[in-house]
Amino acid sequence: MTDHSPNHDPTCLFCKIIAKQIPSRRVYEDEEFYAFHDIAPWAPVHFLLIPKAHIASMAQVTQGHAALMGRMMALVPVLASQAGCRPYPEGGFRLVTNTGAEGGQEVRHLHFHIMGGPRPWLRG
Ligand code: 5GP
Ligand code: ZN
Repeated sequence: MTDHSPNHDPTCLFCKIIAKQIPSRRVYEDEEFYAFHDIAPWAPVHFLLIPKAHIASMAQVTQGHAALMGRMMALVPVLASQAGCRPYPEGGFRLVTNTGAEGGQEVRHLHFHIMGGPRPWLRG
């Protein structure tokens, strides 16, 4: 499937995952968001939550994205729990968004890392 909408970057790895051109292990999907297990998990639970619209990083987020970002944030505890993170406060999870090269970002499509589960973790 080819999507020529301006919200889609055909060269972007995560846009290709959204388009199912590259397989992934789905955690959640709706009209606006996709969540899938990280291919190289740091923790017993480690998945990525992404907007289907191609936004390169947090550095491109504006007030125009406020409602979308609010809905994305509100999904985090629901999906963390569904994916196996144990209840707060004994359990919990870590939410990370790397931004830009110095922020440690490798894939230039906005994503939240959600990590949780019993420690020790591989990293973090
Ligand atoms: P970043 O370093 O940009 O914050 O995170 C990118 C994340 O995407 C990394 O944790 C990496 O393991 C994950 N990743 C990279 N390529 C793929 C892929 O093809 N499939 C999946 N499921 N995860 C990927
Ligand atoms: Zn993209």
